[in-house]
Amino acid sequence: MDQNQKNKILRYLDQHYPNVGCELWYRKDYELLIAVVLSAQTTDQSVNRVTPILFKTFPNLEDLAHAPIRSIEKIIQSIGLFRTKAKHIKTLSRMLIKDFNGQVPLDKLTLTRLPGVGVKTANVIRAELFKIPEIAVDTHVFRLAWRLGISKKTDSVFLTEKKLRKVFPEDRYIQLHHQLIHFGRYACHAKKPQCQGCTLQSICKEPHKNLEKPIINRS
Ligand code: SF4
Repeated sequence: MDQNQKNKILRYLDQHYPNVGCELWYRKDYELLIAVVLSAQTTDQSVNRVTPILFKTFPNLEDLAHAPIRSIEKIIQSIGLFRTKAKHIKTLSRMLIKDFNGQVPLDKLTLTRLPGVGVKTANVIRAELFKIPEIAVDTHVFRLAWRLGISKKTDSVFLTEKKLRKVFPEDRYIQLHHQLIHFGRYACHAKKPQCQGCTLQSICKEPHKNLEKPIINRS
């Protein structure tokens, strides 16, 4: 990828998604951690529907750590994998109290030792709470990275993240992560991307771009 293509991508994202950020609702650090754990394989909107109720019913970490598992399950039952996620919430609340004085840890390896927290979640937490330059590769970022020719479709998530970090400047990582998510979520969809008018068509590697068919005058 040459410098012109990199600049083109950044210009496009800045023009269309200038002020985007985390769409998960939270007020406290641990609430974001729980919201991100809940967001695995489900939408942020679904998570935002249950977290205000969860955090109102159990307003602090102690309450969550001692909450009956059935009560947590009942509140979050509208989202996927709710039984497993309910267990994660209870266990990680206990661990935060016992091992981290109620604080969300900053260290990546430490974060990934918490239940339900993988590298992607750890990157989101580090970027959002601690402003550490990280690029969390979710399904949208992964798809956009190969469509825009930065990575390959066959690359692992780890390699995709590595390539993104190599191509773009570090001070753009956090913003770029949010911009790619918004682009993937609202325009460059997995199945029917809105390609009409997309000025990244010349770079794009998606073989089934939804381009306008030329109008043929048969008269
Ligand atoms: Fe996405 Fe279509 Fe633009 Fe390619 S041309 S980046 S598939 S919107």
